[in-house]
Amino acid sequence: MNANSAQTNPAAQENSLSARLRTTQNLLREALKEFKPGSIALSFSGAEDIVLIDLIRKLGLTIDVFSLDTGRLHSETYEFFETVRTQYDQPIELLNPDPEGVQNLVKAKGLFSFYEDGHQECCGVRKVQPLRKKLATLDAWITGQRQDQSVTRSDVPLRQRDEAFSTEGNDLTKFNPLAQWTSADIWHYIRENRVAYNPLHDRGFISVGCQPCTRAVSPFEHERAGRWWWEEATQKECGLHGQNIIPITPV
Ligand code: SF4
Repeated sequence: MNANSAQTNPAAQENSLSARLRTTQNLLREALKEFKPGSIALSFSGAEDIVLIDLIRKLGLTIDVFSLDTGRLHSETYEFFETVRTQYDQPIELLNPDPEGVQNLVKAKGLFSFYEDGHQECCGVRKVQPLRKKLATLDAWITGQRQDQSVTRSDVPLRQRDEAFSTEGNDLTKFNPLAQWTSADIWHYIRENRVAYNPLHDRGFISVGCQPCTRAVSPFEHERAGRWWWEEATQKECGLHGQNIIPITPV
């Protein structure tokens, strides 16, 4: 049974989701047993991450949560952080970029340089650097990556060594407990469990990132089509999951 046939058959989807749910719960238990509080955290941004918070709570466990506040997020996203914080009594540590790095970039290239020369430089300053600083304090992190999110994530395993952020002195483990879930699984879980979600999803935004780099997509577009829509699909990673990037083959 593949994910697509499950999506067209609700009973089959229910069964396969149950199996994936068990896998996810087992992995979350394993991760939070192996890595003690303070040494593991969840990176929070999208619909997948609220599913993970909900699952962790229902397992009777707790997790530290952080999110990257790039300074360019939608107001709806900030409001969503607040909803999650209050509904789950869950502190969310907001990671801010180094002000000097932002000032230097904006002074040299303005506020929208990513439309001209790609998103990597701005994401590097606003996302990757603060994330690197945070991950240097951890032994493991949990993400909401899914294999069907994009071509860059089709091989994402449930558990991996983080090749992008491990250092000589810090062997970092990355857990992707929803790797095998489909988009339909996520939304089925959210509706069934009445889990809060970013209101932008009701306005055609599927994958939500920074405001200038995210647009709503039409019904038959891929969910990541609204992210950095002016760039190649194989390059659509902001550096958080840089090991997924597929090298461009020269033609
Ligand atoms: S997503 Fe866009 S605005 Fe946000 S950090 Fe990356 S390039 Fe900058």
